[in-house]
Amino acid sequence: MKVAIMGAGIAGLSCAITLEKQGITPTIFEKRNKVGDRFINAESMFSILDRPIKDNLSYISENYNINLKPIDEINKLSIHSKNEIGNIEEKIGYTNIRGRHENSYENQLAKQIKCNINFNSNYEYEELCKNFDYVVLATGDGEYASHLGNYRCDLTCTIRGVTVEGEFITSNPHIWFNYDIIPKGYAWLIPFSEKEANLSIAYPDYPDNIKLNINDMWDRFYSLACKDSDQNFKITDKFEITRYMMGICDKPKFDNTYFVGNCFGTISPGLGFGQFSSILTGVYAAYDICKMGCYQELTKPLFENYNNSLVLRKFLENLTNDQLDFHIKNLDRKVISKLVDKLCETNNSSIDILKLSTPVMKLWNEYKEFKGQKIQ
Ligand SMILES: Cc1cc2nc3c(=O)[nH]c(=O)nc-3n(C[C@H](O)[C@H](O)[C@H](O)COP(=O)(O)OP(=O)(O)OC[C@H]3O[C@@H](n4cnc5c(N)ncnc54)[C@H](O)[C@@H]3O)c2cc1C
Repeated sequence: MKVAIMGAGIAGLSCAITLEKQGITPTIFEKRNKVGDRFINAESMFSILDRPIKDNLSYISENYNINLKPIDEINKLSIHSKNEIGNIEEKIGYTNIRGRHENSYENQLAKQIKCNINFNSNYEYEELCKNFDYVVLATGDGEYASHLGNYRCDLTCTIRGVTVEGEFITSNPHIWFNYDIIPKGYAWLIPFSEKEANLSIAYPDYPDNIKLNINDMWDRFYSLACKDSDQNFKITDKFEITRYMMGICDKPKFDNTYFVGNCFGTISPGLGFGQFSSILTGVYAAYDICKMGCYQELTKPLFENYNNSLVLRKFLENLTNDQLDFHIKNLDRKVISKLVDKLCETNNSSIDILKLSTPVMKLWNEYKEFKGQKIQ
């Protein structure tokens, strides 16, 4: 059986690992000249967003024998709004490295495959279709799926980030929601080590945002992050991504083509998490090829999760800075803090907060839309 995997990112490599475990050697085509050959950045996985799974990394290790070493376990998440800071002090997930760093997730996955990767590939999907029994599209965005008329793009985002030197606690990332500075977007700081961190902003490319000057936005956020951290960071690297697609395919598979990772639509529009679902789609596509499962069925919960996350995005966008302050302030109130910690804790809770809160957020979004229409 001939299987082509287009893209040696986390979804493509997870697919390759799983196929090899079943005795199938895929052919991997990667357009770059080595795995993860791009800027280095820190990312995270929050188990709380992937319920009923309690702990993402243990789950993929125990169920699929895919082993990943994070930077650290998150045991405190600090959330900043315009005037408040709240903390979730529980083991809610992990931080990790991406890109050309030797410990990046893609490099860790590449060490778990035996087959060679064809680097500097300029093969087109259509050519691969002619020469292989199955093609797994794992190119890291929705372009191919769009091109094939199989993708709904819900929004695109601009992302700017830097690597900074300073002093950090690796188990404590930070998130900022401040719509005066980043309208309808957010920012984050994730440490790679006690001396280095990734600081980034992301905002949707809505017409009102496109008019804004990203340099001004960045400068304002950067000053705020330095002030909140009580440090003068030193910038050592930079990256910028424009029109980062958030959307989902209509069909996860058609004919002999599988859409996996961001090609499938694994990036959740609410908070931009996509790593865990990317790994799952890679594994599930391999299962389907090996007749160990049905891709359409296995990916059903991911469609639901994506749609719930879209509701979360709208909900967050509809909040004002005052409302954000109110919610963040309450995180540190004893009773609420206990409840939030209970819901978030990795080892004990399998409550799907996103799913449970979606109907309420939907109602709120509808109310906001109705109110908006009335004002017009
Ligand atoms: C700045 C940023 C921060 C993020 N933070 C988080 C986070 O904190 N948590 C989280 O869960 N998710 C996060 N994400 C999302 C997450 O990184 C993605 O969802 C995930 O990497 C998608 O995996 P993938 O395998 O689909 O794509 P990738 O891992 O990007 O791999 C795609 C591969 O395909 C290759 N390729 C592209 N085109 C071709 C071609 N034509 N032929 C051959 N190869 C090709 C690329 O070179 C690349 O190697 C973030 C994304 C960004 C951009």
